[in-house]
Amino acid sequence: MGVEVRPLGVRCNIQCQYCYQNPERDAGNEERTYDIALMKTAIDHEGGPFSLFGGEPLLVPEDDLEDLFHWGHDHFGGSAIQTNGSLLNDRHLDMFARYNVNVGVSVDGPGELNDARWAGSLAATRERTARTMAAIERLCAADLVPSLIVTLHRGNASAERLPVLIDWIGEMAAAGITSIRLHLLEVDSPVVRLKYALSAEENLAALLAFLRLESGLPAVRFDLFQDMRAMLVGMDDRNTCVWTGCDPYTTRAVRGVEGDGRRTNCGRTNKEGIDFVKADRPGFERYLALYQTPQDAGGCQGCRFFLMCKGQCPGTALDGDWRNRTEHCAVWTSLYERLEGEFLRRGLVPLSRHPIRPRLEAAFMAVWSRGGTPSMSGMLRFGADARDGEAHATPAV
Ligand code: SF4
Ligand code: SF4
Repeated sequence: MGVEVRPLGVRCNIQCQYCYQNPERDAGNEERTYDIALMKTAIDHEGGPFSLFGGEPLLVPEDDLEDLFHWGHDHFGGSAIQTNGSLLNDRHLDMFARYNVNVGVSVDGPGELNDARWAGSLAATRERTARTMAAIERLCAADLVPSLIVTLHRGNASAERLPVLIDWIGEMAAAGITSIRLHLLEVDSPVVRLKYALSAEENLAALLAFLRLESGLPAVRFDLFQDMRAMLVGMDDRNTCVWTGCDPYTTRAVRGVEGDGRRTNCGRTNKEGIDFVKADRPGFERYLALYQTPQDAGGCQGCRFFLMCKGQCPGTALDGDWRNRTEHCAVWTSLYERLEGEFLRRGLVPLSRHPIRPRLEAAFMAVWSRGGTPSMSGMLRFGADARDGEAHATPAV
């Protein structure tokens, strides 16, 4: 679980054309001011540690950034920041080193591959992208190796662009990058769909190219594939939120703190541009419904990967309605089948093929019905060779 601190809300120095925060900007719900004392109180209430987030957190004046990082270091031993990297300067680098700040950079590749991260004109966009690339280089050279978030879309992962993206990932690995998160595009408008969305086949082709790349870059961790393999063997303790049954009104994985100390949710489900107030307790209606709703009505009924996927992130739900399963279902189904095959070829039985699956599903439904948050690893006792991938599942329920 992470505390995402957004001093300036969704304010950003560039305008990524596909950004999931655009509905908030379009609605005029941008923060202009913040109160550091109120934010610290809210972070303390959440129990930290925290990650500075935006919009673009490097828009926050340097003295205030230093105040927050210094405080984060004293209270929690460090903090984190997620940035587009284009505003990075020497003082930021110094602060990151001094106060133990983990850095994540959001970027979609070099040159034209990053053009969707628009800065007002083509020249300005390319210049910002060059600055982001220089920032990654500088961070690596300063032993502050960042993690990367790369969103796949028509601008960087179509058949023509994908080879360039893959080559660039190899260059990033050579520069020392070890952690890369791949996102499929979250589509919030028909214009974005028309211009940037890949088809299911194209998304799958891109992910399979990364899957092949994974074995050639052993030092790089693509958390997407690690998460999916872990879910197939019931290890769900440390996985990314998208596989864990997220309630859009409490977003357990994301506890947002706004500039005025307000507590908010992950913005990926804010389709109306409104940051709804965090609910007091989570609800699991989406998962109870998805399990029982036929697939042609937007549900997941009958899917053998339900416990591993759970309809995926509600922010990517069909028709922008969190009650539906993800619109990327076909991609995740194919990828799970591929990873399932890896286990089967090694003579190991993943949960999707294991006779215990119906009982485990029933147990999940029972816990969700009571308002609880079930965990697969909590329900299973693993045999010694589970670490090699086989779920010797014995229900504790
Ligand atoms: S809405 Fe999606 S990205 Fe946000 S916390 Fe939930 S699962 Fe994660
Ligand atoms: S793969 Fe598709 S049907 Fe299966 S759980 Fe995920 S979204 Fe639902």
